[in-house]
Amino acid sequence: MLDYFQHGLLLMDLYKKLEILSRSAKYDASCASSGSSRKNDLGGIGTAVKSGICHSWSDDGRCISLFKILLTNMCTYDCAYCINRVSNDLPRALFTPEEIAELTVQLYRRNYIEGLFLSSAIYRNPDYTMELIFRTVTILRKKYRFNGYIHAKAMPGADPVLIRKTGFLADRMSANIELPSEKSLTLLAPQKKKGAIFKAMINIKSNILDCRERDYSPGRERGFVPAGQSTQLVIGASPESDYTILNLSEALYRSFSLKRVYYSAYVPVTASDARLPVAEPPLRREHRLYQADWLLRFYGFNAGELLSEKNQNFDPELDPKSQWALSNMYLFPVEINKADYAMLLRVPGIGMRSAQRIMKSRTVRSLTFDELQRTGVVLKRARFFVTCNGKHLEKEELDVVSIKERIIGNHAPLLLTAARNKERSIGQLDLFGSNFLTAPEPGIIAITGEL
Ligand code: SF4
Repeated sequence: MLDYFQHGLLLMDLYKKLEILSRSAKYDASCASSGSSRKNDLGGIGTAVKSGICHSWSDDGRCISLFKILLTNMCTYDCAYCINRVSNDLPRALFTPEEIAELTVQLYRRNYIEGLFLSSAIYRNPDYTMELIFRTVTILRKKYRFNGYIHAKAMPGADPVLIRKTGFLADRMSANIELPSEKSLTLLAPQKKKGAIFKAMINIKSNILDCRERDYSPGRERGFVPAGQSTQLVIGASPESDYTILNLSEALYRSFSLKRVYYSAYVPVTASDARLPVAEPPLRREHRLYQADWLLRFYGFNAGELLSEKNQNFDPELDPKSQWALSNMYLFPVEINKADYAMLLRVPGIGMRSAQRIMKSRTVRSLTFDELQRTGVVLKRARFFVTCNGKHLEKEELDVVSIKERIIGNHAPLLLTAARNKERSIGQLDLFGSNFLTAPEPGIIAITGEL
């Protein structure tokens, strides 16, 4: 029998707990996207159909439509980059599974949220924490018949049986890798073990595959994490280059069948730890990694094409596809009316939908630049890399430096840093009006890492 009910912190006012624990959860980026398509069943509450989960995104790409909460921020670990580390002096709180389940249902009924993202610090040990998460999800699904989206954390080091049981109730699970190398993990999060993280991920993957082989279908029986698994990498807390990070992501997609790798730019949490950088990395770095990740997953690129041992980091001024194209000008210009789909996808300014429209349109006629624009192609960028019926849009021949200048000049300014500052200053996910979840005090804004 769990004895956490005895804990004095459980007596804390519910709103106070919410304030503390939603703030502690706010920088975990791995909650986005559902991918579930389960409909409500008779007598249940909620639905996880794609259209039923309207994700709101903050300007820096974080999901704000889920009830994003920690079970507790009372962590026994001491990860240097995390606000919830045991050595940090901050208010602590602990929810019971019953409280979180009740809150989720109440918030859902009031239309505040459309699902739950449940994470936790390591409270006592991974098994104990995982059991609390499992109990929460069980109460929601069994007692309240909550059918909405649930993303639950898998605690590395927890009993695989507990993770498996939770996975049959959740839509998505994630075990966060956090640091892009074992060396950095040992330095900054000494209690975390690479082996335990990968073991949790393998456990989730093998249960997903097992479920697929047995042909579970959502209509007949809830499958194992039907929306798959994801993970998060912290960017800039350790010295790994974009090349290392992107290669890692590529390997993760290949090895663990991940749905997503999320990148979270490090936010300094302490001024006195020599192991950590003083400044946070530019948010544009996080943005470039997301763009590159997209190229890996949908555009047929691999990490070794985008970066190399010699060129280890993305140009902050240029999107990764344009950077690649400018380094491979011998492949251009591409003739729009002849290039195959894979090559069209590699042209800056041509997205997947535009490439599909081009392929379809040109079966009936040759495309001109005017028609190309109507397919959604961003000619401001594509113009340097394509011809239509042998014609260039640019009158003069430009060298790589001039093209780069023109592309950068054509970009709308990225206002991510400003947006993020704004988001920080007003707080995130204000559930009960501005007086309830107050803006975080300076100095305790931080990412939550593994959680
Ligand atoms: S990253 Fe996770 S395990 Fe590490 S201190 Fe933070 S909450 Fe605890």
